[in-house]
Amino acid sequence: MDFFGGGSGKKQKVHLCQWDLVCRPKCRGGLGFKKTVDMNRALLAKIGWRMHTHDQGLWAQIYEKKYLKDCSILDTPGVSKQDCSATWRSVLYGVELLRKGMVWRVGNGDKVNFWKDHWVADLPLLHYAGVQSGIALDCKVSNFFKKGWWDVEKLITVLDEDMVQKITCFPVGFVGNSQDAQIWRPTSNGIFIVKYAFQLIHGGSNWSDACWKGLWSMSLPPKLKVFLWLVFQGKILTNEQRVRRHLAVESSCSVCGWHSENITHTLRDCGRAKEVWLTVLPPTKWEWRSPWNIMFVFTCWYVWKWRNQYIFNDAEDLSCDPRKIAVFDWVKGSSVNCRNVPRTQVMLRWEPLGSGWVKLNVDGTCMNASRKIGASGVIKDCFGEWCGGFAMNLGKGHILDAEIWGLFFGLRLAVAKGFTKILIEMDSQIAMNLFQQRDSLCFHPLAALLSNYMGRCLDILRVGISSIFLERRMVWRIALPNGAII
Ligand SMILES: [Zn+2]
Repeated sequence: MDFFGGGSGKKQKVHLCQWDLVCRPKCRGGLGFKKTVDMNRALLAKIGWRMHTHDQGLWAQIYEKKYLKDCSILDTPGVSKQDCSATWRSVLYGVELLRKGMVWRVGNGDKVNFWKDHWVADLPLLHYAGVQSGIALDCKVSNFFKKGWWDVEKLITVLDEDMVQKITCFPVGFVGNSQDAQIWRPTSNGIFIVKYAFQLIHGGSNWSDACWKGLWSMSLPPKLKVFLWLVFQGKILTNEQRVRRHLAVESSCSVCGWHSENITHTLRDCGRAKEVWLTVLPPTKWEWRSPWNIMFVFTCWYVWKWRNQYIFNDAEDLSCDPRKIAVFDWVKGSSVNCRNVPRTQVMLRWEPLGSGWVKLNVDGTCMNASRKIGASGVIKDCFGEWCGGFAMNLGKGHILDAEIWGLFFGLRLAVAKGFTKILIEMDSQIAMNLFQQRDSLCFHPLAALLSNYMGRCLDILRVGISSIFLERRMVWRIALPNGAII
């Protein structure tokens, strides 16, 4: 800490913040330093994950035979201290953390408790709905299936509509659907990552804080990012802060005499700070192309440096206009890369298909505010003639859910119409990659949809897949009759 705070054995400097704050992950408001004790726990959780995924190592096989005896490590029976080695106790310590990040991916729904297990939301459903008396709390998720799909009428009797819409996005009830499985919730592919286990030690269900993420992703020199971080944390040494730390007796502003010099006063309200801001902010409208957030941070930094120069080095005047300092060079430098990106013009037109082939265009949509998702698609033959289409409301979920569901319904429509040679076009690179890797997605939340039904479709189909440009996608969106299921 002395090293980080700039102090040495002979000269101690003020520690601006606590070590615990420095050691929080960046997305939780810290600087991302890692405490070895926390890192050790996250790594032990990884050992637990490897056992959960049946690692083939000799060590895993020995522990499995000795302690698990065909049980899942996540359901580890209580082991008294006398009954196991210190190593196994450490593994169990890591498994406690692992369990916090696990969630059920529903397959056939026989193992997952509908109310008590963690599967659809951040907490078990028991925490959400006002569960009425007389409801069986031991029922399984499969009790809410009906004829290969969700029993929506039954769901509505026990949960509110918002939760029902989330639930109906889950692909369940298909013939041959996979077993229920526990996957790692913080990652999109369901596979354990130590970094997220480490974050889990420091946080609840809120995985990222957009404000902190925004700060660390700005195109700024590191020292300015750390300065802004200190400002956000209220840690820069204004006179108010110095009095609080018993470094001064007067909290008034040394520049203008205002009774209390806090961060807002120093950087915004003090007379000299106002002068600087007036030179930066034109009275009518913002005239520069430079990003405002970068200009904002540079100006705060400039005001702070000037304040320190004035107080400690008797520098009277503002040395120069902040617009002329590094900010312009910085903005110019950071925009060079953008200009160097080569652009090529592509002519878009209908590409004729081979004889007997049809083209399936699918797309998913997600409304930002309500998280409602939908999917639509069209099938055209090798002459560009309409063969069929669909538009579906899918409840509430993520855009990737919508894209995969779109692919699913498109393929199902194609099979129903008897087509066997299909070229799929869609704009989601992630969905296309998942579709192509469908056989290796053991832990992906949508693996059931991708590998089971679609996999079986592909046994009887010849399928090609390619990305589509936005401009071309607009054409078939317009061609689709409004809201129709065809
Ligand atoms: Zn002042």
